[in-house]
Amino acid sequence: MNDDTPDSAQELADVLQDVRRHLLWQEETAGRSLLVDAKVAAELQQQRAAASSVRSMIARTRAPEPAAAPPPPRPPAESPTRDALHAAMKQPLGAPMAAAPPRAPMAASRPLASDTPAPRAAPPPAPGMLLDVPKSTPRYNGALPGVVEGERPTLDQIRRELGDCRRCKLCTGRKNIVFGSGNPRADLVFVGEGPGETEDLQGVPFVGAAGDLLTKMIGAMGFTRNDVYIANVVKCRPPGNRNPEPDEIAACEPFLRSQLLAIQPKVIVALGKFAAQTLLRDTTPITRMRGQWREYEGIQLMPTFHPAYLLRNSAEKRKAWEDLQQVMKLFGKHPGSSA
Ligand code: URA
Repeated sequence: MNDDTPDSAQELADVLQDVRRHLLWQEETAGRSLLVDAKVAAELQQQRAAASSVRSMIARTRAPEPAAAPPPPRPPAESPTRDALHAAMKQPLGAPMAAAPPRAPMAASRPLASDTPAPRAAPPPAPGMLLDVPKSTPRYNGALPGVVEGERPTLDQIRRELGDCRRCKLCTGRKNIVFGSGNPRADLVFVGEGPGETEDLQGVPFVGAAGDLLTKMIGAMGFTRNDVYIANVVKCRPPGNRNPEPDEIAACEPFLRSQLLAIQPKVIVALGKFAAQTLLRDTTPITRMRGQWREYEGIQLMPTFHPAYLLRNSAEKRKAWEDLQQVMKLFGKHPGSSA
């Protein structure tokens, strides 16, 4: 066995896991095609060669061979009519929100900064580079999932389109998809990062420790959780509560955009850097973005700290409260009033 060859079943499993991490499936009417970039492809070839060598070695020395994970199931093909509609719909998200200013065209690759990058098994991109979060996935061909051109979608339609989602690797570890909860006609929407353990178990956003704080923040603003809508950038729990990765955000974000199109709130509160940076396509750190009104597709957006961050840094709660007070002011609410 040469030095590059995995020497145990565990290492083989790790290699296979890593290979799976690099698969980028592109959905097309005619089927699926596998996309990898040249660098990753070269790495995959090496890994596959090593994996195949270790597989034959393991087969010779002991049985049974560890089973490779099955490929993700193929999602059902869309009907030609729906495909045609998706293909035809290349308008920006703001169609029913005609007042929205025209969006700057998206760069081919946009950085999505991370203040505290999580440890990654896959090779990390160069710092601040190539974290591409396209506006829409190839599958939807410029349209948004669950959205029929010219119609305001319902959350039910979007949830149906999401289905038993296998669009990214987070599906392998999740217990439940956490779609979102609250008032489908809310004027105020909170967007977080992604489900944690409790949310994954219950299928409901922000029901763990950070959720308790968010519920208090919403109450202090004079709202209840039933008044507002709460969603996340990614709808499945990143394992070990790591940060969501760019390919996971890219796969899931179109659903968040569809949800916002369905709800059409007056205000979005972006909780933390992932929500703010993803929705705004802006890599400015949350410490600098927070407290400044922004606009998302014609909707007022207030970036503020994530409740989980506030639990770890309670001195920052005052700043978050100032941000939320700006939101309250826009709704004509005042601290201490429940109206
Ligand atoms: N953190 C989030 O960003 N979202 C949740 O749903 C829970 C914790």
